[in-house]
Amino acid sequence: MVQKDCIFCKIANRELNTEFIAEGEDYVSFKDISPQAPVHALVIPKRHYSSLNEVDDMELLGRLMKGAQKTAEKLGTGDNYRVVINTGEGAGQSVFHIHVHVLGGRVMQWPPG
Ligand code: AMP
Repeated sequence: MVQKDCIFCKIANRELNTEFIAEGEDYVSFKDISPQAPVHALVIPKRHYSSLNEVDDMELLGRLMKGAQKTAEKLGTGDNYRVVINTGEGAGQSVFHIHVHVLGGRVMQWPPG
């Protein structure tokens, strides 16, 4: 369930004193350390899955989306925000514990780079 040396497992287990924005039974959210927008947070499951491709619990994905809604609301994005799940190195994934980016507070461009 917990992967040794996974930074997001450590955050979820409260080993790093990270301040949580929202928390549910099986997820937490917190601010991204290198924000790409005025609002940039991450929602992660407490259980380790390396990427979206590993998740077989579709209800968990729904709860992560609920966590994204709550996180956006708490950080005051209003109705305008973006959620992103980078999956695989080629798509920009750099931390291999699935996470949902919540970005807001500015106008977003499309398509993303
Ligand atoms: P991705 O590139 O989609 O895998 O996103 C990983 C995100 O995790 C990046 O936006 C990083 O800035 C962020 N990140 C990495 N380490 C930490 C950390 N210790 N606390 C908060 N955010 C982090």
